[in-house]
Order: sequence, then structure tokens, then C-alpha cells
Amino acid sequence: MKKILFYSAKSYEKEFFDLFNKNFGFELNYLETKLNKETSYLAKGYDGVCCFVHDILNKEVIKNFRGFGIDVVALRAAGYNNVDLKAAYENRIHILRVPRYSPYSVAEHTIAMILSLNRKIHKAYVRTRELNFEIDGLLGFDLYSKTAGVIGTGNIGKIVAKILKLGFDMQVLCYDSNPDYSWADNLKVKYVDLETIFVNSDIITLHCPLNKETYHILSEDAFNKMKKGVMIINTSRGGLIDTKELIKNLKNGKVGFAGLDVYEEEDEYFFEDFSTKGLTDDILARLLTFPNVLVTSHQAFFTKEALENIAYTTLKNFQDYFQNNRLENEICYFCGEIKNNCNKVNFGRCF
Ligand code: NAD
Repeated sequence: MKKILFYSAKSYEKEFFDLFNKNFGFELNYLETKLNKETSYLAKGYDGVCCFVHDILNKEVIKNFRGFGIDVVALRAAGYNNVDLKAAYENRIHILRVPRYSPYSVAEHTIAMILSLNRKIHKAYVRTRELNFEIDGLLGFDLYSKTAGVIGTGNIGKIVAKILKLGFDMQVLCYDSNPDYSWADNLKVKYVDLETIFVNSDIITLHCPLNKETYHILSEDAFNKMKKGVMIINTSRGGLIDTKELIKNLKNGKVGFAGLDVYEEEDEYFFEDFSTKGLTDDILARLLTFPNVLVTSHQAFFTKEALENIAYTTLKNFQDYFQNNRLENEICYFCGEIKNNCNKVNFGRCF
């Protein structure tokens, strides 16, 4: 029986993995601890490792895994910016992921953030609980006919654009390094350059991956170009926004609203309870003081359907690997970073 070690495991996901594993028959062992250089030694004796978004798969960890004879790591996530793909490729470790577990979960959370911030539902909830039924200070705006800029039109961005266009009748401007023009024509949305998005959008929502090109895509220069009062939504990755610049622009009123499901330095805090400990991160603490900022802790993916798909696909990825089947969900240095350069020989494996 193949033995798989899970890092960063939470009780709510174990339930789904144990249920689906009845059909796969692996030995699954769960650790709550995150993966890093020190904890990588715990994987000795395992056949495979399963990681989540805050687990660090850097060169040292990968070399340690290689030393233990582990040659497969499955991410139970879509994003893979926490993996040194080059090191994985050089050490012949296959990295698998779940590319499309439920784009609806993240897209719908994005819309929830837009509506909550605009209509100040988070403020109204607290007010009425305190028996304060006044509505001053809760003024919103109609989304109808306003302009939304969607950066990244993959699985999630496309659903967000569709809801904003067909659900709210907004003007939708899109930017993607690999645009899908026929999709845009059908939906009657337009691809434009980034500057046009910054200058014209009332709402800017981020749905591209974090990589060298997209790091701080919302920079000082980008904020300078934006409309006064713009709403920024980030359900993608924290590093897409220069948070210090965001705070500066919240303070001067350029940014009217920010909905953040992710944060640059989230690894230490998100998914953990700090209610009795407090924060040492002054930037996150400052963000939480703004009445027009809504922070959720990387929960956009968190629906029943998403957890079912994550559990099933992750276990299927391991099964395909161990049974020498075609690997549909492998990412490697070539597939992930140097696109269209993968020959996928050897049963669909990158190497
Ligand atoms: P996807 O791969 O389907 O789409 C990403 C899109 O971004 C693609 O169309 C790609 O061409 C585009 N892109 C790549 N580089 C770009 C660049 N430099 N500039 C503009 N566009 C670029 O991914 P997806 O499933 O839509 O997910 C998007 C992101 O959402 C993921 O990368 C992940 O970071 C994030 N995510 C967050 C959660 C959460 O719970 N908050 C859950 C899942 C995914």
C-alpha cells in the first residue's frame, strides 16, 4: 500500500480525503504542521507528499525529498507559486496539482466581496446586532453600467466577467497575456491593455497567477493611474498587490474599497487563530483598521464542491502516477514556466 504524507492538513479536508480514499486505498497520514526545510524530514519513508498553498517547496526541501526517494508531490491547490519548479525538474520530482476544482467557488466569493463592500453588508450586520437601525454611512452605488476590469481571464476570471456582464450589465474590460478573443466576442466584453483597465475601471479584480511578470501588478504607478474611489478585489495571490502602496492609496482616498482574500505575507496568519495572541505584522494590522477594507483568510475556494473535487483529483493524480498512467495534471519547469515547450513523452509525463 502506497503511503502518502499530508502537510498543513485541517480536519475539514481530512473528512473528504478519507471518504474518497475508500476507492483508492492509500495509507494517508496527516500532519498539521507546514512543510519547510525542518519538517521535510518527516516525509522519510513515504511514497508521496501532499501539500497546500503555504507549504514551501524550495530547493532544499526538494533535495531532501529526492534523498528520501520521493518522486511525486501533489498540490491540493491550483496555484503553484510556492514551488521551485526548476529544482523539482532538476531533481526529477513530479509536481501534480488540481487545476480546476471549482472556479465557481472563487468567482462567487469575488462577487460576494464586491457586493459586501459596496453595500457595506459587513458594517450593517454589526450595526443591527447592536440594535442600531440607522443607515447613514451605508450608501452604495449601482453596479449597473459601471466599468469592471478583470485581470486574468482563465477559469475563474471568465466566470467573474460573465457574472458582472450578464448579471449586473456592467461594462467589462479584460486583460490577459494570452487573450481568448472568441470568448470575449461572444460575451461582448473587450480585451484592452493594462493601462486602459487602470484608467477606466470602477472595480478592478485580479485573477492571474503570481509569477515574475505579475508580481506587484498593482504598483505605485498602477494606483496613480486609477480612478478616485476605485474598488480593488484580490482573490488570487497576495503578491499581485504592493500592499504598502495600497495602504497609501486607501489613506489618501484614491482607493475607495479593497476586498482581499489573500495577502502578501499571509503564510504566518491565514488558516490559524490569532484572536488571543494578536498580530506582529503591522501592515496587516493597519489594513484591518480601514472600514472600507474587507479581509477574508484565503477562503474563496472553500465550498463543499471544491473540497470534493480537490480530494478526488488529488488522489486520482497519485493513482495515475503510481500506476504509470497518463498524468493530466502535472506541472513542470517547462509546462509551467516556459509554455508550449513540453513534449509530454512517456505516458504524458514531463520527464
Ligand atoms: P487559470 O490558469 O485558469 O487562469 C489564469 C489566467 O491568467 C490565464 O488566462 C493566463 O493566461 C493569465 N495570465 C498568466 N500570466 C498573466 C500575466 N502576466 N498577465 C495577465 N494574465 C496572465 O487560473 P484560475 O483557475 O483562473 O486561477 C487564477 C488564480 O486564482 C490562480 O493563479 C490562483 O493564484 C488563484 N486562486 C485562488 C484561490 C483562493 O482560494 N483564493 C483558489 C484558487 C485559485
